[in-house]
Amino acid sequence: MHQKGSKNALAQKLHEDILLKNFIDYVRFDTKADPDSATVPSSKGQLKLGSFLAEKIKALNFDVKQKDTGVVCVRIPASAGFEKVKSLCLLAHLDTAPDASGENVNPSLVENYAGSGIELENGLIIDDKLCPELRNHIGDDIVVTDGTTLLGADDKAGVAILYTLLERLSSGDVKHGPLTIIFSVDEELGKSCNYLDVEEINCDYGVTVDGCDLGEFDVATFNADAAVVTIKGRSVHTAVAKGKLLNALKAGSKFIDLIAAIPSPETTEGLEGFVHPHDIKGGVEQCVIKFIVRSFTKDGLIKLENKLQVAVKELNSLYGENIASISFSFQYANMEEVLSQHPKFLDCCRKSFKDAGVEIKEHFVRGGTDGSNLSNEGLPCPNIFTGGLCCHGPYECLPVASLHKSYAVVEALVKNMATLDAL
Ligand SMILES: [Zn+2]
Repeated sequence: MHQKGSKNALAQKLHEDILLKNFIDYVRFDTKADPDSATVPSSKGQLKLGSFLAEKIKALNFDVKQKDTGVVCVRIPASAGFEKVKSLCLLAHLDTAPDASGENVNPSLVENYAGSGIELENGLIIDDKLCPELRNHIGDDIVVTDGTTLLGADDKAGVAILYTLLERLSSGDVKHGPLTIIFSVDEELGKSCNYLDVEEINCDYGVTVDGCDLGEFDVATFNADAAVVTIKGRSVHTAVAKGKLLNALKAGSKFIDLIAAIPSPETTEGLEGFVHPHDIKGGVEQCVIKFIVRSFTKDGLIKLENKLQVAVKELNSLYGENIASISFSFQYANMEEVLSQHPKFLDCCRKSFKDAGVEIKEHFVRGGTDGSNLSNEGLPCPNIFTGGLCCHGPYECLPVASLHKSYAVVEALVKNMATLDAL
């Protein structure tokens, strides 16, 4: 028997659970990022949620600014006597993924999850085949959608955690060092770091609150480059083409054959890197193939790129002329190299998981996070879980206990940063 969510049960909970109430308030804003928009941020909803937050934060008497880009930045001076401790920047993003609608999110609560799957209002089923992590959440209360939109736990769970932290800090009884809290925009478009300036943030360390399942602590990401192979053909009227025409489209197809043995996303997992052709456009005259190249090590990245270069040479020698060329461009770098230079900070994070009673799962992300860029720009920045599962679509859900555990880790981190001697 699949369980169903209840709106009444959710409404009841909101009376007693401020963190959850804040989260539900924010998912009602449609902040879906728009990849086709030329504006910054890419959607108005992000500005609306940002100004809603900025007003509330102002009312708590914190120094808050919403920039033209939509980024909201809160500066919190250290408690008296803690001015010298290392400064910490906490980040969450306002936007939701463009993959699914974020309009009229209509959440409900599945109480005491029994383990046999959840039926959403429109009939979609979330079970542990689709979302294996659910097996670890039997007995939890879980927020779900009605099946027509995403939930927005990615990353409004992070936004709710950081806002709730501000409410807690406004009481003055948590002693802390200098803090900066940033609500960023268009993270889902890979653009958020374009609007963040590490020098201006001016903090010793950062943490993004933008991970998934309970306990996740992301300390490594891929190194990422993009590659473009351009193949030049020769168009000749088909009536007289024999021996003259060179069809770039066919050469492109040949090139895809030549790279069949190079590791790809569908043949790799764990710490293995890959090459992934994701776009091909062209005709007789020209064919352009776009790739992403990913590896946890820089060496691995170079090896994969060498394989692509070898394939280009092979194609050229097959055709007996230089019809193909390749170019590479940097996308982001593994944060691990930077983070490994700050073992005390990582230990401080690990201690915070322990203090919050959360079993830590140190994680290598087969992708990038904002921390990949921020770390390499000078703000060492791992990522911690929010509790959200199955993100970016209608199956997205949020075990309430995980949300609270994430909050507990973040609050413990703020306290631990203040009590550790110079890290
Ligand atoms: Zn996210």
